[in-house]
Amino acid sequence: MNQRKERTIRQGRNLPEVRADNLSVVVEAIQKLQPISRSELADATGLTAASITHMVNELEAFNLLVETPSSVRNIGRRPTLLTFNQNRGQVIGVEVSRSGVQAIRSDFGGRTLARLERPFQPSASVEKGLGVVREVIADIIDVQLSLLGIGVGVPGPVDSTAGVVIEPPNFGGWRNVALTASLSEHFGVPCWLDDDAKAAAFGERWYGAGRNEETLLYISLRSGVGAGLILGDRVYRGAHELAGEIGHTTIHVDGPLCECGNRGCLETLVSVPAIMQEARRLGLSAQNPAELHQLALEGNLVAQNIKERVYLYLSAALVNAVNHYDPAVIVLGGQLVRSWPELTDTLAVKVKGRSFGYLSKDIRIIASTLGTDAVALGAVAIAIHNILRDLSGTLSTPAVEPLVVSTAVAQAQS
Ligand SMILES: [Zn+2]
Repeated sequence: MNQRKERTIRQGRNLPEVRADNLSVVVEAIQKLQPISRSELADATGLTAASITHMVNELEAFNLLVETPSSVRNIGRRPTLLTFNQNRGQVIGVEVSRSGVQAIRSDFGGRTLARLERPFQPSASVEKGLGVVREVIADIIDVQLSLLGIGVGVPGPVDSTAGVVIEPPNFGGWRNVALTASLSEHFGVPCWLDDDAKAAAFGERWYGAGRNEETLLYISLRSGVGAGLILGDRVYRGAHELAGEIGHTTIHVDGPLCECGNRGCLETLVSVPAIMQEARRLGLSAQNPAELHQLALEGNLVAQNIKERVYLYLSAALVNAVNHYDPAVIVLGGQLVRSWPELTDTLAVKVKGRSFGYLSKDIRIIASTLGTDAVALGAVAIAIHNILRDLSGTLSTPAVEPLVVSTAVAQAQS
């Protein structure tokens, strides 16, 4: 877990941290609005022209931006427009799950350039597993471009500060695996990791359904039930990186025993394996949630009842979450959301009927727009944000010098 120092005085945030936050605001604005002029950037972000000049200079010092003259002349002056330097380098985002390793190659603006997936089953041999992860990353890297950093999303629990996978359930021999140290050493670049649901929350916040939302709760409904809570633009972790473990909130006090040692956790009632086990117990032939949905559509009452129970449990969990956290938006992702098309609308209606009226009045419950890319794209976002936190530390070390020197800026200026 995190090293927690004895602290008796509330800690302030130093200028570099505030600056990194503002840089990420500027990067996000450029990503969404490029090509964009400096004055448009100031308007869009609410930062002063002087701050924008300072931050654009800083990004340019690291060769991250390209300037091109605008075709529109503005009272005699032709403003220059800023875009990301696509040739500056690549960021790799990886999801390691119980069924596969998926990687996305992106530019510094978070634009997906390539995608690669390989089957993977965690076994007793951690070294073999690490080999698959390294292989997928090596295969997606564009050797013509500098590699800026790698982000990884893995099943929790994790220690994101130390970059350690602690001991995910059903994950073979993976116990206290120093994943980021291993990948950093192998590829010679900085690497960061987070719990897969928190990574997906970050992905939806920066590139998906929750763009522009400061308070977002992401819930993934698949083999497990995970969640990530973004409060004020940051992932809220809690004291032990377990904040937002909605899958282990008690929904049924006398319910089935959960892996965590408690009874009646949400995950024991609505995870995909729990739903399919219930379907088998009741004699249905459905092999997956999509087939169960089809049976319900065809009028099978048992299938309809199973779905109705799942909605009852899920809506209770969401009502609790709304009353605990008061998020502006809840983004639902994972296999169940993709298999049951009416899921988000059904839950929205049920939740609005049950939480505090004034709280739930404007809450938006929506489906993930990143789908199966959410974790890997979130891992890209995590890497980019960490690079922004320490541009000089992460981008100017010899290990991350471009393999091929970028000529884009010189070309753009000539
Ligand atoms: Zn549990």
